[in-house]
Amino acid sequence: MTWANWTGDERCDPSVILRPTSVEEVAALVRSAADTGTPVRVVGSGHSFSDLVLTDGIMVDLSGLTGLLRVEAGTGLVRVAAGTTLAELNVLLDRHGLAMPNLGDIDHQTLAGAISTGTHGTGARLGNLATQVTAIQLVAADGTIHELTGQDDALTAARIGLGSLGIITAYTLKVVPAFHLRAQSGPMAVSELLGRLTEFVDGNDHFEFYYFPHAPTALAKLNNRSQEPLRRPTKVRQFVEVDLLENQALDLVCRVGRRLPAQIPRFNRMVTGFLTPASRVEVSHRAFVSHRSIRFTETEWSIPREACADMLRDIQHVIERQGLAVNFPLEVRFVAGDQASDLSPVYGRDSAYIAAHMYRNMNWRPYFAAVQEIALGYGGRPHWGKRHQLDAARLADLYPAWEQFQQARRKFDPTGLFANNHIRRVLGP
Ligand SMILES: Cc1cc2nc3c(=O)[nH]c(=O)nc-3n(C[C@H](O)[C@H](O)[C@H](O)COP(=O)(O)OP(=O)(O)OC[C@H]3O[C@@H](n4cnc5c(N)ncnc54)[C@H](O)[C@@H]3O)c2cc1C
Repeated sequence: MTWANWTGDERCDPSVILRPTSVEEVAALVRSAADTGTPVRVVGSGHSFSDLVLTDGIMVDLSGLTGLLRVEAGTGLVRVAAGTTLAELNVLLDRHGLAMPNLGDIDHQTLAGAISTGTHGTGARLGNLATQVTAIQLVAADGTIHELTGQDDALTAARIGLGSLGIITAYTLKVVPAFHLRAQSGPMAVSELLGRLTEFVDGNDHFEFYYFPHAPTALAKLNNRSQEPLRRPTKVRQFVEVDLLENQALDLVCRVGRRLPAQIPRFNRMVTGFLTPASRVEVSHRAFVSHRSIRFTETEWSIPREACADMLRDIQHVIERQGLAVNFPLEVRFVAGDQASDLSPVYGRDSAYIAAHMYRNMNWRPYFAAVQEIALGYGGRPHWGKRHQLDAARLADLYPAWEQFQQARRKFDPTGLFANNHIRRVLGP
């Protein structure tokens, strides 16, 4: 049975796809795979862009291990099964008057898939999702079940582990009381945006922007906590702004750009001309998450925050110099540095994330290679779920806690049961 990722451009033929429904079943399948020496890869919702989960061995899908297992009243701690999607989790938390403090663009990922690759939203004072994790239940390569807690060094390794340490079956997460966000978006001159970047990033709870190569105008998005009652756009306005402009119009522009690459600069300027200001008050998770109907592939790099404007200018120059056909905006977000995970891409530094996209069936290689080269010049670290060409030797230099992570790998998976080609490339044999 062929498995494909969300974009549809990474495929594999696992020998079997197993869907365990309890931690004991997970442990039993791992023991049996270890006995026969059959490799195991655990998959979430398949929303990673690279060959991260591909396997010709056993693929383990945790869609049978979902739900809110426990809510600890008064502490903000919840126990969640690892296969729960973010969308399901948001609804379950909402019923208890709780919420995730921050989220990325979409909610289709599983909790384990999102956390294991360092998935993040935007917010200068907020870390990636892995920073919310206070405990992990992990099934190691010998089938033993481990509860990793705050006292255990292994927790720092397992938060962002790319499925290379074992199969995570449950998390304890720190969440927050439910809240509303005032979500504002609209066009902003690139010169003003980059000139006042620090003010915007520090002055808003969640600030991000879309930078359209060749265009003088960007789309800025500002989400701030609010006590106001919900104020939603009409269905018609929502349809025009989200379905028509964000998805269908962009899709049309991308299709035309794919056929007529020389016209892309003109199209990009035209698209930004249609941007209009919008404002609403929403339940937090509904404000964070957008509907994405366009299929694309992506690379994303975390760099020190202060290098953000320079890196964007460098990308603009390289697009012009090499005549690269780029009809998707760059997405720029901000995340607080942490040391909660050995492999956190924002380890030890407040960071900007710059994401470059390429429409499906267009050649992403020269553009992503150019972006990678530029990012590395600023000490960039790649998003673990997105495309990049680095190997373990290069990555080891970028991660101060690399060796701690490798120790945990030797402890939980000494024979490489959970490794595939991607894992061997990025983490070593
Ligand atoms: C349209 C789109 C929008 C996106 N938006 C954002 C965004 O806003 N911010 C951001 O940071 N990223 C974003 N991403 C990237 C995405 O969040 C990550 O790639 C994430 O890992 C996908 O989660 P998944 O459940 O699909 O996991 P998969 O892609 O299936 O797996 C990801 C990794 O997690 C491991 N894994 C899965 N389950 C387990 C488990 N139970 N135990 C151990 N390891 C496990 C897998 O082995 C693999 O290494 C986006 C991706 C798409 C396609």
